[in-house]
Amino acid sequence: MEATHDWARRQDDEDPLFGFREEFTLPRGVIHLNGNSLGPLPRTVPTALDRVVRHEWGEHLIGGWFEDAWLAAPVRVGDRIGRLIGSAPGQIVVSESTTVQLFNTVTAAARLRPKASVLVSDRDNFPTDRYLATSVARLLGLRLVETPMADLGRVLERHRGEVGPVLCGAVDFRTGELWDVARITADVHAAGGVAVWDLSHAAGAVPLELDAASVDLAVGCGYKYLCGGPGAPAFAYAAARHHGELDLPITGWHAHSRMFDMADEFDPAPGVDRVRTGTPHVLSLLALEAALGPLEAAGVPAVRRKSLALGDYLVFLVDALLGGLPGGPPEVVTPTEPDRRGNHVALRCPDAPKVSEALAARGVITDSRPPDLLRLCLNGLYVSYTDVLEAVAALRDVLATVGTSTPPSSTDTRVEAS
Ligand SMILES: *Cc1c(COP(=O)(O)O)cnc(C)c1O
Repeated sequence: MEATHDWARRQDDEDPLFGFREEFTLPRGVIHLNGNSLGPLPRTVPTALDRVVRHEWGEHLIGGWFEDAWLAAPVRVGDRIGRLIGSAPGQIVVSESTTVQLFNTVTAAARLRPKASVLVSDRDNFPTDRYLATSVARLLGLRLVETPMADLGRVLERHRGEVGPVLCGAVDFRTGELWDVARITADVHAAGGVAVWDLSHAAGAVPLELDAASVDLAVGCGYKYLCGGPGAPAFAYAAARHHGELDLPITGWHAHSRMFDMADEFDPAPGVDRVRTGTPHVLSLLALEAALGPLEAAGVPAVRRKSLALGDYLVFLVDALLGGLPGGPPEVVTPTEPDRRGNHVALRCPDAPKVSEALAARGVITDSRPPDLLRLCLNGLYVSYTDVLEAVAALRDVLATVGTSTPPSSTDTRVEAS
């Protein structure tokens, strides 16, 4: 690897995914390294939404529920997401937010183990996951045990036989650390628990085999690596073997076995339809469906391969271009082993929010997480080697000036010299 434009351009020329950048409407001059918060806009989406709004809604009116198959969309889109994460058809519903799906699945997991007394929750998970785990434990009178993922094995051992739901994040939203879903799920089962995975930073990013790993329940975000747009609906996975006894707390009419009967009592639909809630958010759902096109065409394994290569390049450049800074290069917090990291790399920078802001002013979109992490998401679907080189060069200029009173220099963006 070399910290030169020539080298980066050569990689881009040889990159079989390079053309996929054109499938996204990224503003000129912008390097988007924040796809783990909000994926960019795929070109397929405005066209699809225009048709849905003007033709389906505008002309078919209420007929769209059947004529345009809006009613079937939550499970149809679920099946498409399923192909990206190793789920056979008929186990995923796309609806609601991740937050709501967490409540629905974690509560259902507890109901699968009525004698359990403990709910285990990943202490480093995204806040909404931790808040929901706390709330469900309080609601059901379960003891909440929060643990770092690295200690989960010991915690499961200690509470063997008492464990009900075990809620884990597959990729740490701060550090980017990737956990072994299959091995941990086996540990959860050995302790008698039910594994509920949050795949928000993993779906569409890393290869997942939910069925092969015997995952029980899972949720994931639609607007990160799946590029479904702001507020895109989330997905909920329920393994087919649980459908018969799955007792979800959100008993909406779309989950009824005969939803149009308007019956007095709730009778859950057979199969995955019982994971449905109420009327789906059709416009957002169909935007998400259209957004899946480029990722499906490229394939998760190819995108993952390139994302890892971009991550390796970033780590190399941190040393090559930032090693000469007065305080040395920022620490790479993300594990460097390919099977232990997701598709974002976190750097420890004392003034991370300010650094992220200064990068944005230079057209490099990143984000920061308290107290001191700068996150750079390397989605191989639309990020190039040249983007990574230019982003680290911009970071070098920013780090050389942030925290000092001198305004950032806008001229020194040459990278070959280092
Ligand atoms: C992004 C993310 C969420 C987001 O939940 P919303 O309901 O969409 O706000 C939840 N959990 C994890 C782990 C996430 O990364």
